Amino acid sequence: MHSSGYRREKSATKSFSAETLNASHSIRATDYNPQIMDTGLKNRVAIVAASSQGIGKATAEAFAAEGCNVAMCARNAETLTRAADDIRQRYAVQVLAEVVDVTKAAAVHDFVEKVVTRFGGVDICVTNAGGPPAKGFLAATYEEWQRAVELNFLSTVYFAHEVIPHMQKKHWGRIVTITSITTKQPVQDLVLSNAVRAAVVGLVKSLANEFGKDGILVNNVGPGYTATDRLKDLAASRSQSSGKTQQEVFDGWAADAPLKRLGEPREVAETIVWLASERASYITGQTILVDGGIYKGL
Ligand code: NAD
Repeated sequence: MHSSGYRREKSATKSFSAETLNASHSIRATDYNPQIMDTGLKNRVAIVAASSQGIGKATAEAFAAEGCNVAMCARNAETLTRAADDIRQRYAVQVLAEVVDVTKAAAVHDFVEKVVTRFGGVDICVTNAGGPPAKGFLAATYEEWQRAVELNFLSTVYFAHEVIPHMQKKHWGRIVTITSITTKQPVQDLVLSNAVRAAVVGLVKSLANEFGKDGILVNNVGPGYTATDRLKDLAASRSQSSGKTQQEVFDGWAADAPLKRLGEPREVAETIVWLASERASYITGQTILVDGGIYKGL
């Protein structure tokens, strides 16, 4: 949104893009326009969890483009280092990258402590993790339920618990959770996501209520079908169960959206940046879908 030239075509780690997937559709995402607005985020400290690829990486990049110092984490050291180096090379900000499994409370605690030691505090925390497997109810094991709760709910609890005291000290903070369109509209064969992510929405609203007095805003962003490796996995699974090719599955998702294309990670990232910005200073406790209009409700 602001100045420093965040442009999607420069992303070195993009293995899978909306441009290729949307090639057969005439409607495209517009290019990023850095003149649009000043977000007031320069020199803020932003944690972006699970940020070695996909929406997390795009979000770390979008905050770097706004002049924030960024703390990234993921489990895989190699992809994380590559993503962090890519951002360091293109933006004049500091980037801290640590191997962290977000399902481990102690690891999240240590990570947040390192961020505070390095940057002197935490202003923004974006919680994120990989998605749960695509399953119907009887196919999902109890272990998978347990895992989904740890990955997609407890990880958010751990981050919120660690960062809120630091935000209270500054009387300023932003927490943005990344969930899914499933928080508004269940998706077929994603029962784990459909059920577990609703708990995040309850948490977001509760935190917004409890910590608004401390200047901490808490919101949730629900992506629709967004071109990342996660979507490729979902398409493979849907292709197996339906007999359609993966391209047909992608085309079906695009056709279902009023905007007639898949989303780009950049588009989710920019919504998160806006929610964290001074331009969204009276918004808290909300779920914003970035889904090209695919949610059918009012
Ligand atoms: P992705 O699979 O491309 O990236 C996931 C990231 O999470 C990677 O960086 C991975 O290393 C990291 N990660 C996974 N488990 C982790 C753990 N235990 N600890 C630390 N890091 C971990 O996924 P994405 O498409 O960028 O999606 C991000 C989130 O948004 C997921 O929860 C996904 O389910 C959700 N979502 C995605 C879409 C979509 O269409 N892509 C739609 C709705 C919701």
